[in-house]
Amino acid sequence: MKTTKSEEIFAAAQKLMPGGVSSPVRAFKSVGGQPIVFERVNGAYVWDVDGNQYIDYVGTWGPAICGHAHPEVLSALQEALLKGTSFGAPCALENVLAEMVIDAVPSIEMVRFVNSGTEACMSVLRLMRAFTGREKIIKFEGCYHGHADMFLVKAGSGVATLGLPDSPGVPKSTTSSTLTAPYNDLEAVKALFAENPDQIAGVILEPVVGNSGFIPPDAGFLEGLRLITQKNGALLVFDEVMTGFRIAYGGAQSKFGVTPDLTTLGKVIGGGLPVGAYGGRKDIMSMVAPAGPMYQAGTLSGNPLAMTAGIKTLELLQKPGVYEQLEQVTKQLIDGLMAIAQETGHPVYGGSISAMFGLFFTGDPVHNYEDAKKSDLNKFARFHRGMLEQGIYLAPSQFEAGFTSLAHTEADIAKTLEAAKVVLSNL
Ligand SMILES: *Cc1c(COP(=O)(O)O)cnc(C)c1O
Repeated sequence: MKTTKSEEIFAAAQKLMPGGVSSPVRAFKSVGGQPIVFERVNGAYVWDVDGNQYIDYVGTWGPAICGHAHPEVLSALQEALLKGTSFGAPCALENVLAEMVIDAVPSIEMVRFVNSGTEACMSVLRLMRAFTGREKIIKFEGCYHGHADMFLVKAGSGVATLGLPDSPGVPKSTTSSTLTAPYNDLEAVKALFAENPDQIAGVILEPVVGNSGFIPPDAGFLEGLRLITQKNGALLVFDEVMTGFRIAYGGAQSKFGVTPDLTTLGKVIGGGLPVGAYGGRKDIMSMVAPAGPMYQAGTLSGNPLAMTAGIKTLELLQKPGVYEQLEQVTKQLIDGLMAIAQETGHPVYGGSISAMFGLFFTGDPVHNYEDAKKSDLNKFARFHRGMLEQGIYLAPSQFEAGFTSLAHTEADIAKTLEAAKVVLSNL
């Protein structure tokens, strides 16, 4: 595999931008070796600047669930583009996407659009505090809710990958109200509520974790959190930036039948353009300015291009059989990978839900971040590099979930498994 152009461009980038990237995990630090510089993307494939083609399981970190550069999304965008890129005024397309989100996601009665998942999460945190008049929140170890100060405590993949326990520049006073518990541990959550009576605004979590690798909730965990928060007058918030419209059209909350008070969204609802959203119960959302006193705003929020890409993507996801197809293709992939790992003598633990999957290089079950950290990271790094050289683009960290799309065919999966056979046999 020739990657000279990638190397040249990345070397130049490192002089221009910190670490040569616009977001840390792209730099391949945790797997070593040079990152690949992309030239273009289409369907299930990406091409690098040296002309190499890869089957892609990152999907621009989630948004590309219909496949990259879907022709219907592109043509809708081309049409919208002619009317201008940003209005800074109400636009009917916001109503269309808002209605689609409200119809789909059980907890959402009203929604506010923002420009990223980070923005959605930091805004929802302000809303949790404004509504309850309480300051403390509970988050889980290994869950990522964007890079806002208050959430940079035990924050999963990006931070874990770089080995930063925390980040300098985050004042202690900001995170002192952020309490943490191990994922899937209801007793730890109960203890925090008991130690902090009437002080906890709410609990925020990834209802299926993707940011310390793929970790589904244990039976009863989400239901338990719903009961505990209700009993303590606290809010339950599902961060569905990754899972929303990915593991089911209505997100994890529709899949598991547990309805939180508030929900954050991003990734898929932007169809590849920068979008985030938060929404929930009408009485809570009515606190958001200008309906209520909680301030939150955005110059480019709800812009017509982002709304158009989101609307078209959700329309594509409404077609019958879509989630069955995603489930089937992803299961074929993960079952195949696990079987090959077994045959080649590598202990692994993994799984999938719909278009989201993960595989840890550990033989023990993974229920939380501590379990995930027992994975053989060195082996993962060699597996990652091997797969890359076989034309398979996986997320460059053991602590990231993988994503499939409607563009991934059985032939793509078969090719991926062939590659895995070669790589795992020689690992
Ligand atoms: C990606 C992600 C975010 C942050 O979204 P950005 O758009 O990258 O700011 C927040 N929460 C979860 C669960 C995510 O996966």
